[in-house]
Amino acid sequence: VNNFETDLETYLNQNVFVGALSSGTAALHLGLILLEVKPGDEVICQSMTFSASANPIAYLGATPVFIDSEIETWNMCPIALEGAIKDRISKGKKPKAIIPVHLYGMPAKMDEIRAIANQYEIPILEDSAEALGSSYKNQKCGTFGDIAVLSFNGNKIITTSGGGAMVTPTKELKDKAVFLSTQARDNAPHYQHSEIGYNYRMSNICAGIGRGQMEVLDQHVNFRRANHQFYNALFSKIDEVEVLTEPNSDFYSNHWLSAILLASYEQREALRLAFEAENIETRPLWKPMHLQPVFQNAPYYGE
Ligand SMILES: *Cc1c(COP(=O)(O)O)cnc(C)c1O
Repeated sequence: VNNFETDLETYLNQNVFVGALSSGTAALHLGLILLEVKPGDEVICQSMTFSASANPIAYLGATPVFIDSEIETWNMCPIALEGAIKDRISKGKKPKAIIPVHLYGMPAKMDEIRAIANQYEIPILEDSAEALGSSYKNQKCGTFGDIAVLSFNGNKIITTSGGGAMVTPTKELKDKAVFLSTQARDNAPHYQHSEIGYNYRMSNICAGIGRGQMEVLDQHVNFRRANHQFYNALFSKIDEVEVLTEPNSDFYSNHWLSAILLASYEQREALRLAFEAENIETRPLWKPMHLQPVFQNAPYYGE
């Protein structure tokens, strides 16, 4: 486990510390605990994401406040974010954290999001579960947050079968995460606990798989980027299809998933069924969290 953490620290190359955990969801849960999110608090979260970005907010009895995406990266819209923060503060509820996501590996607009977070002094919990190998302005995704999260679930760019990691700017935060992930055992010869702990540490077997996977990470990213190029060329002649592409050279996506936009629901469903008949798998993208039955009462800011 320690060596896998060192591999990731070396790869991310930003003076960060990595704690290997049992899943990305566990890392998000511990991240919110370290940012002192308590019952009744509000946490801002990108709406267009996988449910695991938002569920840990509910684990803590806090309320998610969902934010719309912008059109270029499909990630958290900085304008909607600032509007939401101002409105929540005017209601006497200053959000405790902001969870932006690098959806499908596409980096979010981190300069704008960071500027707003700093202005209102709200920490960022960066959900980089889909974006190991992506970068923004030559800085690796997973190093922008006050705390960041990686996932090594079976479907991600590299896998440990199941696993995740927390990335922190200080050793103290990492040590605290590891402490909480190993049942919060005090430093005493007997079994003493002053805090509630969790069983969230990565196993050595999984970490061993992860060390092997680190050797093929760049290769996996290159394959996915080649797939993206292929789809870009294929669809360039078809006006109704838009491929999710980096807005400019500041953005470098691992293209974990190639995603396209179609003009209508009917087109999308017809295309999905046509592909299926040819044994080619396609799927609808994440359904935004503010449209999910389980989060129907959560505030939402956007169009
Ligand atoms: C996969 C994923 C997670 C959760 O990671 P697990 O390791 O599966 O718990 C969180 N956020 C996003 C955006 C994801 O895609």
